[in-house]
Amino acid sequence: NQDSGTHPACAFYDADFTKQLQTEQELNDLFEHSLKNHDFKVYLQPKVRLLDGGIAGAEALVRWIHPQKGIIFPSDFIPIFEHNGKICHLDLYMFEEVCRLLEQWNQKGQPWIPISVNLSRQHFKNPEFLKAFSEIAERYHIPPNTIEFELTESILFDPQQIEVVKISIQKMHALGFLCSLDDFGSGFSSLGLLKEFDVDTIKLDRQFFLDISKEKSRDVIACLIELAKKLNVRTVAEGIEEQEQLDYLREIGCDLVQGYIFSKPLPPKEFEAFCAR
Ligand code: C2E
Ligand code: MG
Ligand code: MG
Ligand code: MG
Repeated sequence: NQDSGTHPACAFYDADFTKQLQTEQELNDLFEHSLKNHDFKVYLQPKVRLLDGGIAGAEALVRWIHPQKGIIFPSDFIPIFEHNGKICHLDLYMFEEVCRLLEQWNQKGQPWIPISVNLSRQHFKNPEFLKAFSEIAERYHIPPNTIEFELTESILFDPQQIEVVKISIQKMHALGFLCSLDDFGSGFSSLGLLKEFDVDTIKLDRQFFLDISKEKSRDVIACLIELAKKLNVRTVAEGIEEQEQLDYLREIGCDLVQGYIFSKPLPPKEFEAFCAR
């Protein structure tokens, strides 16, 4: 912009943009070292069964604990690493850390606990990507049905990726893994997608539950849960914070709940303590 030197608004914008580029560059430069240094940590957020209050499993969420910068949240670095493909290394790293934990717990005599891990859409550019995941699971002797891969619904809007996604879901099942559709309803998901893609679980996006006191909101949620039941797909309600949300979900028979009302994502030791309670 030619005016950027003189127009105050543009000058401000440019400064902001430069700063943003710097942090992007900075985070990129830190990545390899942080990966080697084990600065990326697995946090686990419990999923609670509404039927009996039991813990049905957990979702693994990455936290970047940098010795100087402190804790960095996924929203500040995932988009950057998606852009340059580093996310695939990070997802594999996270997966291996999850498998390592599961093996340790098993060796201590604890029963297997199902864990879900997030898969970036970037993996689907390589139709063979699941091989690396399944090799890791084998190396740590993890029963594949302990693992559920979460794919974000937005991946289904990319016509070029649809076929690979379908085939990948089939491969996941052939290998014994489970598959869930994350952030369901956050974009323009058509309900028809549910019959096209053979997922085991849908995770209803947090935004469905924000205005739960409105009858229309409740009706939409009830319909989605009913549809999922008809299709034999398990339901997880995400981002539940309030008792009113929980009461309604219980009333209509949602299977699992994940949200601050039960627990934030926890470091593994704290998650173990949470399960023991
Ligand atoms: P997601 O997979 O939809 O994960 C759920 C997000 O909602 C998490 O944010 C979680 O901390 C947050 N959350 C859970 N309960 C509540 C609640 O009651 N209220 C509110 N306001 N938020 C809640 P987080 O950990 O910051 O992760 C954000 C996103 O980053 C994830 O969304 C996922 O898309 C991505 N992500 C996280 N870890 C990984 C990873 O290892 N690999 C990949 N590819 N993506 C990841
Ligand atoms: Mg997820
Ligand atoms: Mg989600
Ligand atoms: Mg979400």
